[in-house]
Amino acid sequence: MPQGYDYERLLDRAFASVPELANENVDFKIPQVDSIVQGSKTILRNFSQIADVARRNPADIAKYLSKEFAAPASTDDQKLTINARVQQQVLNERIKKYFEVYVVCRECHKPDTHIEETSRGYVTLVCEACGARYTIKRS
Ligand SMILES: [Zn+2]
Repeated sequence: MPQGYDYERLLDRAFASVPELANENVDFKIPQVDSIVQGSKTILRNFSQIADVARRNPADIAKYLSKEFAAPASTDDQKLTINARVQQQVLNERIKKYFEVYVVCRECHKPDTHIEETSRGYVTLVCEACGARYTIKRS
């Protein structure tokens, strides 16, 4: 057997595993933010679209982002305006975190979830895909 055989086999396996991983997440992608900084404000232009994908009340997501950036935020039609200068990359990170905590199921990683009110300060995330239920801190 020629030397390097194992190495090539490993490479083959590494390449082969990439599409497999991609397929698992093919049905759901966390939306990318479309934002611009205008003066001292940041405008998230596809905010309502993001809220639609999350299936969450836009006001809840607005509140979450307002807290994250320690700045007032207001919704208007499709847009969200944050009274702070926020880079698009940072906004994307926060939106990703929101989805990971409040939208995507921890068990099956699907976004088919809804929130039920629990006790003060906490909510229950209910997964419609796999039936998982768990308590998380309110956003
Ligand atoms: Zn689930």
